[in-house]
Amino acid sequence: MIPFNRPPCTGDEEQYIKQALKNNKLSGDGPFGKKCQEWFETNLPSKKTLLTPSCTAALELAAVLIDVQPGDEVIMPSYTFVSTANAFVLRGARIVFVDIRPDTMNIDEKLIEAAVTPRTRAIVPVHYAGVACEMDTIMAIAERHNLCVIEDAAQGMMATYKGGALGTFGQISAYSFHETKNFTSGGEGGLLIINDEQYVQRAEIIREKGTNRSQFFRGMVDKYSWVDMGSSYLPSELQAAYLWGQLEWADTITQNRLSIWESYYSALNGLAQRERIEVPTIPAECQHNGHMFYIKVKDIAERTALLEHLKADGIYAVFHYIPLHTSPAGLRFSRFHGDDEYTTRESERLIRLPMWFGMEKETVNYIVNSVKRFFS
Ligand SMILES: *Cc1c(COP(=O)(O)O)cnc(C)c1O
Repeated sequence: MIPFNRPPCTGDEEQYIKQALKNNKLSGDGPFGKKCQEWFETNLPSKKTLLTPSCTAALELAAVLIDVQPGDEVIMPSYTFVSTANAFVLRGARIVFVDIRPDTMNIDEKLIEAAVTPRTRAIVPVHYAGVACEMDTIMAIAERHNLCVIEDAAQGMMATYKGGALGTFGQISAYSFHETKNFTSGGEGGLLIINDEQYVQRAEIIREKGTNRSQFFRGMVDKYSWVDMGSSYLPSELQAAYLWGQLEWADTITQNRLSIWESYYSALNGLAQRERIEVPTIPAECQHNGHMFYIKVKDIAERTALLEHLKADGIYAVFHYIPLHTSPAGLRFSRFHGDDEYTTRESERLIRLPMWFGMEKETVNYIVNSVKRFFS
């Protein structure tokens, strides 16, 4: 069976984990944790980055950080992972979904402003498949209405919008290092990215159980005490060591994924030309990162049939998000502003094909041939 994903591994992770074991420091913010954060702060670049146990944790931290209050509204697409919404629901916020664009599956930036009310606190764009949302438009709306922008860039590492790294546009952003993403810190992990200086100090406090431990260790305060609300949002040094084994290969991993993506694209473009399927659209201002190769078929019935056909050929392809506004928790915690013209319809047409770092070209060919046979 061809799996949908294999966790990325460069071969360097093991030696760094062994090194971390010898350092006698396994809790968070050890030498590898610091190296990883410095790498991101330099390369993104960003004012401050903090490793977290997951992207979910980074989003939760962000919601505490901007002081989301019960009854506040947060605007986001319904076509996203549950954590994008949960992070704010946990603070008592009401989620306001707006429709997506059918070309990129990202939030439709033209629909956001009409969904803004006096209660709106933040906009959360999700960069689906590592293809950027229309950030200039979104940042301008946020500025006009004095809203925070928190980018869910879980899938966005190494992708850019007008040359800037995803995660560097909003005041706060989050990456995921879950094993299904382009880079992993050993299965689970994430990163909080802070682009607005005013949030740096409090982010460190919330992440360290509401204490000023970080400042204490830097010698900035002489007492280490409980100063604010907080939780435990530090990953272990072993996770950072695993991630360090990948950051040195960031360009190689990305180039490899892009080349697999291009193989799929060129091999399936003929079917797209004949309008049997649709292949992804990449807007000119976006450089994606080969996170995902998806196709869209006619409807849910055709998708079910194609998934069965692929499975019979030993290929494990998958669909993706069930729109959150249609789910039981979505009915309780959210409303959909405007019409659901594309969210449900497009989500029902989408299939993700297997993709991982180091995937062999023969495997791509085998999958492509199976897809073509289905449509012949
Ligand atoms: C993967 C993902 C998350 C959650 O990431 P974790 O690191 O597993 O918590 C959140 N949002 C989006 C869009 C994702 O793709």
